Amino acid sequence: MSVFSPVEMAPRDPILGLNEAFAADQRAGKVNLGVGVYYDEAGKVPLLRAVQAAEEARVAEHAPRPYQPMEGLASYDAAVQRLLFGPDSPLLDAGRLITAQSLGGTGALKLGADFLQRQAGKRMVAISNPSWENHRAIFEAAGYDVVAYPYYDPKTHGLDLDGMLQGLRDLPDGTVVILHACCHNPTGVDIAMADWVKVIDVIQQKGHVPFLDIAYQGFGSNLEDDAAAVRLFAESGLAFLVASSFSKSFSLYGERVGALTMVTASQEETAPVLSQLKRVIRTNYSNPPTHGAKVVAAVLTTPDLYQQWEVELGEMRDRIRDMRSSLVAKLAAAGVATDMSFIQQQRGMFSYSGLTAEQVARLADEFGIYAVSSGRICVAALNTGNIDAVANAMAAVLK
Ligand code: PMP
Repeated sequence: MSVFSPVEMAPRDPILGLNEAFAADQRAGKVNLGVGVYYDEAGKVPLLRAVQAAEEARVAEHAPRPYQPMEGLASYDAAVQRLLFGPDSPLLDAGRLITAQSLGGTGALKLGADFLQRQAGKRMVAISNPSWENHRAIFEAAGYDVVAYPYYDPKTHGLDLDGMLQGLRDLPDGTVVILHACCHNPTGVDIAMADWVKVIDVIQQKGHVPFLDIAYQGFGSNLEDDAAAVRLFAESGLAFLVASSFSKSFSLYGERVGALTMVTASQEETAPVLSQLKRVIRTNYSNPPTHGAKVVAAVLTTPDLYQQWEVELGEMRDRIRDMRSSLVAKLAAAGVATDMSFIQQQRGMFSYSGLTAEQVARLADEFGIYAVSSGRICVAALNTGNIDAVANAMAAVLK
């Protein structure tokens, strides 16, 4: 008998399970569409040229490695704010912004969850149906009841706006509401600007606490337009939170670069909120790592590198778009009679393909093509070398 004897196996992570099944598959033409990362045309996780340049400069400095402040690198935090709100935003000088470097977007969500639980007594959070699976898990682990508001309409492959607005109205006042700022994971279905206005209206009426998750800024239209929802919240005067992730946009997954930004309702609120956020950080991991934030801050604050990064982000975005239109065309060419053009309208790395769990299972069994059982496919895992096989296999199971 040991302290560990009573410990039972945790439920299998569906996506990790999928990766294991993929690794065990011996077929030459196997394709893993279950992943949540951007692969380039060669099927590799890219090292961006802007990142490489910033890293080389940093290594050449041979800088010492002191602890960072609890809230992380100041130049990074300030750059995150400019990226979110725009360089001319009045918020930048209004004394209402707090940004803390975090361990990826996941870390930002966890900090926000802990903060709201400890300091605002929040116990209920609403996530979209469906949402990134970890939203539920993170908030449950932080002691919340997690409920879902309607979001995706499988009939139209689009947004169920009325359902969403009603769902938000039906929640108890003051619920924390997680919103995907752009490139919704897993559906690829985003909220139009005119509809965001309606969402903000309900949130304001109900006193909900908006918590925006922006993990794909730059993967939808461009850096500015993808932040439009964040900026609309900023204009509303509401207090809200934003979790940023640079895992995808800088292809720096393992460096854990993210940030939690809190927008307070007034300057007076800022100092106490920052002081309490620091306590949350201090009692979790004390202070964040240096490397990723230094690299991202260098890119964001050096005009040449920034320009280079925007180009590279555009290349990733365009390649995904090409894969979307190519997949739609190839599905039609392979004899799929139903209109699959919704795949082209979806934004970001993912597509809710409309495949059923059964069809997904057939894709894996018969063709060695792996996707999430919900039908989510990572469009960024497609390339000119595997797209024909994927389209033909999808066509076979859709018929
Ligand atoms: N939010 C969403 C919607 C995501 O898809 C992801 C990454 N899959 C994250 C947050 C977390 O990102 P990170 O890897 O930076 O923790």
